[in-house]
Amino acid sequence: MQQHSHSHRPKSEKLYNEALEHIVGGVNSPSRSFKAVGGGAPVFMASAEGAHFTDVDGHRYIDYLAAYGPIITGHAHPHITEAIIQAAREGVLYGTPTEREIALAKRLKAAIPSLDKVRFVNSGTEAVMTTVRVARACTGRSKLIKFAGCYHGHSDLVLVAAGSGPSTLGIPDSAGIPQTIASEVITVPFNDVTALREALERWGDEVAAVMVEPIVGNFGMVMPEPGFLEQLCALTRAAGALVIYDEVISAFRFHYGAAQTYSALPDHAAIEPDLTALGKIIGGGLPIGAYGGRAAVMEQVAPLGPAYQAGTMAGNPASVAAGLACLEVLEQPGVYETMERLATRLADGLSTAAGRHGIPLTINRIRGAFSTHFCGHPVTCYAEAQDTDGERFARFFRLLLDQGICLAPSKYEAWFLTTAHTESDIDHTLAAAEHAFTIMAAE
Ligand code: PMP
Repeated sequence: MQQHSHSHRPKSEKLYNEALEHIVGGVNSPSRSFKAVGGGAPVFMASAEGAHFTDVDGHRYIDYLAAYGPIITGHAHPHITEAIIQAAREGVLYGTPTEREIALAKRLKAAIPSLDKVRFVNSGTEAVMTTVRVARACTGRSKLIKFAGCYHGHSDLVLVAAGSGPSTLGIPDSAGIPQTIASEVITVPFNDVTALREALERWGDEVAAVMVEPIVGNFGMVMPEPGFLEQLCALTRAAGALVIYDEVISAFRFHYGAAQTYSALPDHAAIEPDLTALGKIIGGGLPIGAYGGRAAVMEQVAPLGPAYQAGTMAGNPASVAAGLACLEVLEQPGVYETMERLATRLADGLSTAAGRHGIPLTINRIRGAFSTHFCGHPVTCYAEAQDTDGERFARFFRLLLDQGICLAPSKYEAWFLTTAHTESDIDHTLAAAEHAFTIMAAE
């Protein structure tokens, strides 16, 4: 891969200008805009295969974005592609139940035992939104406690002091969310048991649920500290509220299962959430979400119970087929070990190179995913992730992009390895990073 070959992207620029005329902000999700990395045209990709993109100008890129998580087997994986083609031939949407929905539900249950019953929806946002409704239906209470910097989709309640996209853009609260709704949400720092205890002491009998990303993926990759999740569950239950795990990113990312079943997670054996929200990987790249939990809780949902949730597209046959195929690939032996090996080499190499050039860089790696924080301190909560050099990240992002390395355009997002990345991709990436750090150190 040639260095400096990708900085000229006339077709992306032209398409971006055209998109701006018709699509708000030129993008269909604000996280795709380059606003947080200095602005300008994002790269328009034309095709993707394995761990590589080709853009509309014909440049090739190594992809660490993985579509913000779902593309864990790489792009156009033959097994998943076949499943989608087959599903399309059989008709993409019926509005009736189909057999494969049971197969995917069984697979999720087998991997994540806290799921007695599941329900498929179309996105992580929908899954999370519904878990809150179910928790409210179960408890007859209305308040939600969540953690600063965790992102749970764009529904009203969870966009209050949210992280990821919104905080990257510097809008912690969205306009259009009534104060009455915002006042139902209490946000406390991640990894801070004392703050959680205080919040529960003050509002406990009004709290329907405490929601958390058990391994955070939205202000970098952040592990819970030992005891945090155990305390969270104990305190929440003592207050008569439900525990909701948002595993939209974490499920099937670190091992064949969720964070709640991951043996390296502190306290994993001591904790089981009442409700779990899923998405991303379980759809193999097609739109999906799911939520599930204890039978007694899930039986609140229509048609069994009074909490209503429905969807024309829910349990979409193509998404379900793609999700099943994706999980079949991930179940193969050695898959996660390989991603971890490559991610370790890459993260260690980045760390060493940054150090050599005197550039402070904290890397949080969890198996095949990691985040890069330009700072000299650890990142264990949102405040620490905010207190990092965004301009440096933006410079690094652009220098890598111009050498054919594609990251998410935000200092808060992770790098994701896929089963399609190779040693040679890591070599190219480390060479590009070495070049970027050399330039940055001289500036
Ligand atoms: N929860 C988490 C933890 C997420 O990371 C995301 C998306 N990044 C969501 C929920 C929302 O999912 P979706 O974008 O599919 O609506």
